[in-house]
Amino acid sequence: MKKLSIIVPCYNEEAVLAESYRRTKEVLKQLTCPTEIIYVNDGSRDATRSILDAISVSDPTVKVIHFSRNFGHQPAVTAGIHHCDADLAVILDADMQDPPELIPDILALQEKEEANVVFCVRKSREGESNFKLITSRLFYRFMNHMSEVAFPVDTGDFRLIDRKVMNEFNRMREHGKYIRGLISWVGFKQIPFFYEREARIAGETKYPLSKMLKFASNALLYFSKKPLKMATGLGFTAVLIGIILAVWVTVGKIIGYSNAETGWTSIMTAVVFFGGVQLLTVGVLGQYIGILFDEIKARPEYIVDCTKNFNTNPSVSCT
Ligand code: UDP
Ligand code: MG
Repeated sequence: MKKLSIIVPCYNEEAVLAESYRRTKEVLKQLTCPTEIIYVNDGSRDATRSILDAISVSDPTVKVIHFSRNFGHQPAVTAGIHHCDADLAVILDADMQDPPELIPDILALQEKEEANVVFCVRKSREGESNFKLITSRLFYRFMNHMSEVAFPVDTGDFRLIDRKVMNEFNRMREHGKYIRGLISWVGFKQIPFFYEREARIAGETKYPLSKMLKFASNALLYFSKKPLKMATGLGFTAVLIGIILAVWVTVGKIIGYSNAETGWTSIMTAVVFFGGVQLLTVGVLGQYIGILFDEIKARPEYIVDCTKNFNTNPSVSCT
């Protein structure tokens, strides 16, 4: 019989955890297969740590990983997958925006279709700002346009993955992991599951604009070389404009329709325009060099402080 893991990243989620655990556990109790929940505490500064510790004492099927500080949502999910030894895993947000009640249907679909991945596609989204709805819609379509692999649009990390996919994921050494992209990228049989995304049950989003921007730029830079090609294209266009301008000015001087001394406006326009093009292209290069720098340093993606209820590596077990 296959074992199922639920992986839940948590950052300052004291307001939702008790209810989140109760609802998830309720669903897991109805399943016949062995189950566990892996909570990854991503360096929370509120009561998340003590709440998770208390749950792990009362329920031995709840495993907890405490990070040494806040590393981010994607590293937290990555740690969950790395520490998972089950045959199937579902990635779930702590705030219940992805209802755990759907898990039995997702499992049934996986079994029926013998799929390696069931990715959950949001038909609608409750309780999000217009800004988030619009930017996220644009982001997924833009990513599809820029990336060398096709991604399903409007899907988050809420999905079921099997051992085959987890094994391939565990071989990936890159640091700026865009997990939903990487899971599409591995291939195998991947099928959609449509659902209505709910509002967060309590608390605030843990994704402020700064984290959203970092997430989006990582996705773009790790999955596409098109910005570099576009920078080259921009350079060519600028050169072309420069040539046209030069011809126009020279011919104008000879024929006499141009009075070059009064050409302050055109010169300033050209200087500012080409200055901008150069800064932009150097900036794009800089982004990729920054990534190379991070990858070469090869620091771990996250640091585990200690864990609860993992019997495999007791050296890092919390006292
Ligand atoms: N999260 C995390 N580390 C972070 C930010 C978020 O582990 O630095 C977790 C958070 O606790 C939640 C999930 O990632 O379980 C998604 O975050 P959130 O619901 O705040 O994002 P939103 O749904 O608003 O995009
Ligand atoms: Mg959320």
